[in-house]
Amino acid sequence: MRRDRLNPRTNEPYGNCKDCEAVFEAKSDMYAHLEESSKNAPRDVHGTRRRHRGQVTNPTREERIEREVGYAIESATYDFCSKMDDLILDGQVTEQEVKEALRYHDDFAEAWDESMYGGDGE
Ligand SMILES: [Zn+2]
Repeated sequence: MRRDRLNPRTNEPYGNCKDCEAVFEAKSDMYAHLEESSKNAPRDVHGTRRRHRGQVTNPTREERIEREVGYAIESATYDFCSKMDDLILDGQVTEQEVKEALRYHDDFAEAWDESMYGGDGE
């Protein structure tokens, strides 16, 4: 993994438009373009003006960090839920006991609830 993967690549634009030839140096340029495109677009059969779609090819540092944090949390949550599942399947602990032990850990308690009782349907 690149040591500096959390920094945007220098000398590369932030992104481009998927619906025209526009290229954006900065994130704000892209959003300005997308906003502007919705004002000029012809109306479709529903009378809606469809805005152009942007494609981010070189995310900002902030976006890269947000993504990194998201991955780390997802992975920690997954590991936690798998471990608890194993203990339950092995008959060492009950769902209720895990739930009670989680009362001081709101984040994991929520993830746990989702994992046990629906959330993403798995
Ligand atoms: Zn465009």
